[in-house]
Amino acid sequence: MAHLHFLGFPRIGPQRQLKWATEAYWRGEQPLQALRETGAELRRQHWQQQLEAGAGHLTVGDFAWYDQVLEQALSFNIVPARFRQGLKLDRQDQVYAVARGHRDEHGEERAASPMRKWFDTNYHYLAPEWDPETRPQWLGGDLLDWVDEAAQYSDHLKVALTGPLTFVWLSHFDSIDPFEALERLLPVYRDVLNALQERGVEWVQLDEPVLALDLPADWRHAFERSYHQLMLGRTVKVFVSSYFGGLEDNLSLALSLPVDGLHVDLVSAPEQLGVLLDRLGPNKILSCGVISGRNIWRADLEAIYQRLIPARERLGQRLWLSTSCSLLHVPYDSAQETQLPAALQENLAFAEQKQFELKVLAARLADAPASEWLNAFTHSNQARDAWARLPERHLKEVQDRLDHTGPDHRRRSLPFAERYPLQQNSLKLPPLPTTTIGSFPQTEDLRRARRELRQGKIDKLAYDAAIERSITDNIAIQESLGLDVLVHGEPERNDMVEYFADFLTGFATTQNGWVQSYGTRCVKPPIIYGDVSRKASLSGQWIKLAATSTTKPVKGMLTGPVTMLAWSFPRDDIANSTIADQIALALSDELASLEQAGIRIIQVDEPALREKLPLRKQRQEEYLNWATDAFRLATAGVAPETQIHTHMCYSRFEDIIEAIGALDADVATIEAARTDLAVVPRLRDAGYRQNLGPGVYDIHSPLAPSEPQIAARIRQLLTVLPAERLWINPDCGLKTRGWQEVKASLSAMVAATKAVREELAQSI
Ligand code: GLN
Ligand code: ZN
Repeated sequence: MAHLHFLGFPRIGPQRQLKWATEAYWRGEQPLQALRETGAELRRQHWQQQLEAGAGHLTVGDFAWYDQVLEQALSFNIVPARFRQGLKLDRQDQVYAVARGHRDEHGEERAASPMRKWFDTNYHYLAPEWDPETRPQWLGGDLLDWVDEAAQYSDHLKVALTGPLTFVWLSHFDSIDPFEALERLLPVYRDVLNALQERGVEWVQLDEPVLALDLPADWRHAFERSYHQLMLGRTVKVFVSSYFGGLEDNLSLALSLPVDGLHVDLVSAPEQLGVLLDRLGPNKILSCGVISGRNIWRADLEAIYQRLIPARERLGQRLWLSTSCSLLHVPYDSAQETQLPAALQENLAFAEQKQFELKVLAARLADAPASEWLNAFTHSNQARDAWARLPERHLKEVQDRLDHTGPDHRRRSLPFAERYPLQQNSLKLPPLPTTTIGSFPQTEDLRRARRELRQGKIDKLAYDAAIERSITDNIAIQESLGLDVLVHGEPERNDMVEYFADFLTGFATTQNGWVQSYGTRCVKPPIIYGDVSRKASLSGQWIKLAATSTTKPVKGMLTGPVTMLAWSFPRDDIANSTIADQIALALSDELASLEQAGIRIIQVDEPALREKLPLRKQRQEEYLNWATDAFRLATAGVAPETQIHTHMCYSRFEDIIEAIGALDADVATIEAARTDLAVVPRLRDAGYRQNLGPGVYDIHSPLAPSEPQIAARIRQLLTVLPAERLWINPDCGLKTRGWQEVKASLSAMVAATKAVREELAQSI
């Protein structure tokens, strides 16, 4: 049997048990003990499943109460400075305090650690924070207990940890050099390795996904140096795991590390197998990640088997099998999906199905009797064939339309400089127009209506009436606040991608396909399984209602093609660029309908543009080209008088500065409040020509901004961009906020804008 193991398993529970238990604990409805028991039960289930799949080692350390990076940092005594003093919390509460921020009994607030995207996934980790006083030290934490738990199921244990280089790469540094931090960290890793060895652990998996990045030379040197230092005298066996891309120019580095093996991602980079087999050397194991940990489709088992034959010949027992990366990024069990078309359901593989795929692959590679794998292979081939031929996946009209899409379809009929005055003329907005990003608070009223609709307690008519009420209320509130460009508030949307799936061909939603996004927050990405086109209007009904409820301009609100793609599970038989173009065409139809209905401002959000940026520089330009092309295909068809807005929010814009201009939206509203305003001059200097709404306050902060604060911010912006180019808005949507706070903040924003407008008028 080829040795199989799992880099990591989902941990929220097949019914999101960990989420419910954690939130109940936060609300004080359940004792800590109950939450810990839920966690223990989930770990037991995960290990049992691994045993059933024939795992050679059980994986420990992939479980986390909130986030594995944060919890590893805390167990290493890497605690943000503000949490080190004057606060006594037990271990578990410390995790939640650092993850979510904390207010102590004196009302003193401590901000949460920064949350960041885990490479190019939609998982978010909490960045470990270092300062000169940080003294890493192994505190033990839960890990050793989990090892003891797992030991009840198997003698063969493997512990997964974030490796030291990746850990440092992902950290946040305040007045301390990353390499100094690394020096302090290595002895801690040594202590952990020793402690695990004493506990009887056989293997340690050090995750180093940074090996799939363009590593600067000093980082590569540090890599070699650190692993030599780390491995000196250690007794437990260690392998380094890379994923989310090929090793490429880090291949020699990875092979040179003095460890006992390597895990590689053969889903995103199958071509690296040959050279790895040639150069691995005589003693190391090679863990081949052959089943995707990122997508939800059945694998082509036959093709994978064929590809692994040479590996088996060369490596024998040193060939290990696994998923490309942790299964954290896929849902638990596709068998729970009972409402999907049969051919689609049959072609899905969530975490449990992937385990089974590995099991039969390993059986066949071990030349086990056909009874152990043949049926599974045959069934898999049949399901994939039936799937590939499924007629409703291929829509000739969509393909024809794309074939007839030329550069003109991606270009507005007039350049910005000529169309903006036309828009000004028809919209007649004051200088420094005020607006919001789209969503307003999702009230308890709305949530109840949604729940009751789901439970069948109210019908669609009653539900729609609740949405209608919310929209007319939103409009009235915005009018009384004195905002210039209004929105309908998005009450009908539970989410900005899944909601639209119902209106598009080729998209399916699942009942229970939840994936952890951060902490207890989970998302249920729709599945793109066929050609995309518009079945029905995505937004028309509600936006029209808003527009007829006011004489002020109402901004229509849609999600852009790149974000729709990024936050879904895409089909894998055509290029992502083609999927994005298909979505773009469907959106362009929606924009045309909105325009016909008299909507003169339409915002197309692309908050995921940055997230999908390829990890390697070399592939970024190609991506940004097709991504901005798709956005323009969605938006370029409108009349020059129609104003296109877009919205993006991240903390880092550096790598996409030029792409923001290339979208050619008339106005881009961006997050700038949290990250000082540096992005604004950078955009200007990079030749960004269109107008800009840099968020004037941080909607995530619990402290409502005051009028003078916002006015100061606007004046500061005016030193960088002239008033004609500036819009005034918060830095993101308001759906997670409360009404009281929203009203206070927006009224401060409007008042500040009016004050600055007066100053401007006087200065002329
Ligand atoms: N229009 C969306 C909203 O306001 C944008 C969300 C986002 O930026 N992620 O909620
Ligand atoms: Zn946003």
